[in-house]
Amino acid sequence: MFININEIKNGDKLEISFLEDKLDVDELGEMVLCRFVLTKLKTRVRIKGDVSFKLNITCARCLEVVTKQFNEKVDCIFERESPCIIKEEEIELTTTDTEKYYYAGDKVDITPLVRDTILLAIPIKPLCTPDCKGLCPYCGENLNEGDCKCKK
Ligand SMILES: [Zn+2]
Ligand SMILES: [Zn+2]
Repeated sequence: MFININEIKNGDKLEISFLEDKLDVDELGEMVLCRFVLTKLKTRVRIKGDVSFKLNITCARCLEVVTKQFNEKVDCIFERESPCIIKEEEIELTTTDTEKYYYAGDKVDITPLVRDTILLAIPIKPLCTPDCKGLCPYCGENLNEGDCKCKK
């Protein structure tokens, strides 16, 4: 998804939605809805807002796939790429600000931002419910659906 910054005035509110298949995230379900406020400055564009999406995640305990709704806040700066100062900026980037992206010309590609936001939201050890009972280590039955025969 590209945004032509020539069409943006300062503080312009832009609502965008686009489809999952462009993002290449396996866990993603349905549509990603982005609500962004773009603020244009001289050589940078600030993008603030939120990204709503659904993830199909596998519970780390019972291995059931559950769909969860996420709504992540976004606030970052897109800096215009300039060949002469890029080395300086690269150093700056590694030490301080990770929420910085680059654009070239008049077009800002917001796909990496949306993709990163979704990837960061994927839990490391997801659970279907906080008190998931998991699988029986002996027979492999899902204990959320009832006790297995091993317990007798
Ligand atoms: Zn579970
Ligand atoms: Zn069992």
